[in-house]
Amino acid sequence: SKARLFDQNTDVKVSFKDVAGLEGAKEEIQEIVDFLKTPEKYTALGGKIPKGALLVGPPGTGKTLLAKAVAGEAKVPFFSLSGSDFVEMFVGVGASRVRDLFKQAKEKSPSIIFIDEIDAIGRARGKSNFSGSNDERENTLNQLLTEMDGFGSNANVIVLAATNRADVLDKALMRAGRFDRQIYVDLPDLRERREIFEVHLRPIKKEENLDLEFLAKQTPGFSGADIANVCNEAALIAARKGNKAVGKQDFLDAVDRIIGGLEKKNKIIT
Ligand code: ATP
Repeated sequence: SKARLFDQNTDVKVSFKDVAGLEGAKEEIQEIVDFLKTPEKYTALGGKIPKGALLVGPPGTGKTLLAKAVAGEAKVPFFSLSGSDFVEMFVGVGASRVRDLFKQAKEKSPSIIFIDEIDAIGRARGKSNFSGSNDERENTLNQLLTEMDGFGSNANVIVLAATNRADVLDKALMRAGRFDRQIYVDLPDLRERREIFEVHLRPIKKEENLDLEFLAKQTPGFSGADIANVCNEAALIAARKGNKAVGKQDFLDAVDRIIGGLEKKNKIIT
């Protein structure tokens, strides 16, 4: 079977109401939704619509979710790939994949291209410790820069990319006409964690008057992805006990389990 080159979703169901908190980021990215929906309105006075924006922040904070929500809100197709998919690739494959991705996105414009973990391809050139695959990575990065320069701002394709290491990116990526906007997506504060719990508790049968404020207070430093995990774990824990609804203790047990998992993960990294 043919290797999948990238993902394509022409009917994204995610909207801004699925993204809890992140008010500032949502406000900034709303502008991109407007560019996609009514480009004429913005170009009327000779201005150019931006081609790309970088979503910067720690893992699991909703960068992918936010990019999908842009496509969902603007009702445009969402093309995506992950930089980490390029790590072990044969010579020439990365660049041709990027070329195909942009070709498809232009054919289906208005559209969104989303590149997750862009640091895997976008590290500053000539600054990697790894030899061997490095040339191929540079080829891929050069193709990406070429594609972004190649399409006019009237192509109505907007490229969003996510990273938690903006500091290692090749400065060429941030030049005008490329990813010249940065949108910060931070870990949620107390209020935002509460809102994320609200979103992820929607499908869950929970006990009446479960205190979301309390849950938010138990989870400092948790990302949205961690909180989504807690909600799911809690539902599994309660179900295993044969309970009819998920209660406070199930959430506390789930929080402990997630913290245990995070500690293990950190041990492997450090
Ligand atoms: P990574 O850097 O690891 O790719 P990311 O920032 O792209 O992470 P997402 O993949 O968007 O994070 O988040 C993973 C999941 O966590 C989402 O699908 C969602 O279920 C949940 N999540 C994260 N942030 C939020 C949020 N702000 N509101 C609601 N759910 C969230």
